[in-house]
Amino acid sequence: MIPARYAASRFPGKLMKDLGGKPVIVRTYEAAKATELFDEVYVVTDSDIIFSEIEKHGGKAIMSQKEHDCGSDRIAEAVEHMDVDIVVNVQGDEPFTSREGLEKVLSVFNETDAEKIDLASLMTEITDWQEISDPNCVKVLTDKDNFALYFSRSPIPYPRDKNVDVKYYKHKGIYAFRKQAIMDFYRLPMRSLEAVEKIECIRYLEYGKNIKMAISNIAGVEIDTPEDLVKANKMLAENSPKTVNNKFRNFPMVPKVVFGQGSFNQLLDILAEHKKENAPFIYLVDDVFEGNTSLINRISLRFNDKLIFISAAEEPKTSQVDELVKNIKAEFKNSPSGIIGIGGGTVMDLAKAVSIMLANEGSAADYQGWDIVKNKAIYHVGIPTISGTGAEVSRTTVLTGPTRKLGINSDYTPFDQVILDPDLAQGVPKNQWFYTGMDCFIHCVESLNGTFLNAFSQSYGEKAYDLCLEIFLGNTLSEEESRAKLMMASWHGGMSIAYSQVGVCHAMSYGLSYVLGTKHGVGNCIVFQYLDEFYPKYVAIFKEMALKNDVEIPKGVCENISEEQLEMMVHIAMGMVPLWENALGADWQSIITPSKLKKLYRKM
Ligand code: NAD
Ligand code: ZN
Repeated sequence: MIPARYAASRFPGKLMKDLGGKPVIVRTYEAAKATELFDEVYVVTDSDIIFSEIEKHGGKAIMSQKEHDCGSDRIAEAVEHMDVDIVVNVQGDEPFTSREGLEKVLSVFNETDAEKIDLASLMTEITDWQEISDPNCVKVLTDKDNFALYFSRSPIPYPRDKNVDVKYYKHKGIYAFRKQAIMDFYRLPMRSLEAVEKIECIRYLEYGKNIKMAISNIAGVEIDTPEDLVKANKMLAENSPKTVNNKFRNFPMVPKVVFGQGSFNQLLDILAEHKKENAPFIYLVDDVFEGNTSLINRISLRFNDKLIFISAAEEPKTSQVDELVKNIKAEFKNSPSGIIGIGGGTVMDLAKAVSIMLANEGSAADYQGWDIVKNKAIYHVGIPTISGTGAEVSRTTVLTGPTRKLGINSDYTPFDQVILDPDLAQGVPKNQWFYTGMDCFIHCVESLNGTFLNAFSQSYGEKAYDLCLEIFLGNTLSEEESRAKLMMASWHGGMSIAYSQVGVCHAMSYGLSYVLGTKHGVGNCIVFQYLDEFYPKYVAIFKEMALKNDVEIPKGVCENISEEQLEMMVHIAMGMVPLWENALGADWQSIITPSKLKKLYRKM
């Protein structure tokens, strides 16, 4: 429900003002619909103008019959005779309402203390003192379980002792009510705290109701003043909120890299200048090295440094990251001096994610997406022991979360330091060497044949592609040379896709991996051999490589899957929109249909 009053005391008629060619209220309505979280979305209004504007744009609106002092009363009147469980109040002046925030408010009703909750609302951390002291910005205090204690336009708490670490939260005007709760509160008379602060939700506290607050990381933009409207129009014009498909990418690179056989021995010297007092270095090491004294003995644990072995048997998960962070925080009072990841793509990604989450609140799942991370990660070092993924150079860490498989893609994700020592890849089993190496080959194919290609991606992609041919089809390289060259190819392939995008094979292999847990490298190989239609020349080369290197690609993995599993695979693959756009252009949906993908999967 979007309550929409025409008159607004501070900015009259604001909901009908133009925002990128449509009235603000229409933008808000469309944003709420686009979240796909609701069975129905309505604007509830006292204004004929707003009513007909919403209908004109194909939306649903309800005229409120009575005079109301506040939005929730307006909503209560509208839902009184509707059959609903939960009613969500979205502010009409929040045109950038995101799925993230609404999902969080709704999710509290699935938690263990849900019975106690009368309504839920949203808050976001603020750090700028000007904003904290601004009476237009409503602050909220909560108890340890995030139930609201009080809302105020004053800065609460008052920072008498400047050394106490305290956070300020801004209240965001999104509420989710149980229907009973909103009916109970309907027309409860206003009391003095609400009247003096002019903050609607204080009424619920004054009547002893429990408001559970969820935390959102996205600040959003409210249209409260004409200046806000200018800002919002600018945001729209710049095509924010950000997506990775923006035209010019301004990405950080790994600032320090050392390369060469034996360069691993530099590790201690490299770390020395980053050592902080009483703060350990945490080593995350692939458990394939457990008992491998030749490597482990070269890691000298000092003081309270800690080594944690990581299994790469499964793709990394957000819950795994959360668990690691929780344990590190429980064991050490001081934030670590750094995280050092030693292993394949799995460990690289975990090391990046753990270093981010040691500096950011909440769960790793909260940060899956583009540029959501708020605080700089702690110092982190990547040391690959198998090559191909490009994870050592990339700006993302791919994680399987509760609802999706998606990277934490941010400026804070890349390593501060990478050590490339080809000797560490000795002993990688032949099949695994091939699967991970083919990830690199496929990165190059998808980047070089994509519509997003540009000179930057191309220069890296071509080099990496040539190296792959030399390694997997040539006859002249020693194993030692191959290891060094694949390390370079992996790096260049990673750089290539950073500035373009992957394509069909990755979209489909994400589907496999989400449903069956298939690991990334082998999943790509399983898919790629069936992509003649898209990459004919390269599929032939791929098959030649598999033959020459005497590698078996698993067959029949989709033979016995259920129809639901197949549907899910297709759903996940189809959801990878930027990948399809890169591979096939804006018109990709005319080429790729669910039934076509099903047929392809059934072959695998
Ligand atoms: P991996 O890290 O899962 O390792 C594969 C296997 O090789 C494991 O069994 C591991 O124990 C073993 N291994 C690693 N080094 C070894 C060594 N020196 N000797 C013997 N065995 C060794 O595999 P991967 O292919 O490197 O990485 C795949 C992961 O990388 C996936 O989770 C994928 O999502 C991720 N990935 C991330 C990015 C990114 O940009 N962040 C890009 C591509 C892939
Ligand atoms: Zn890949």
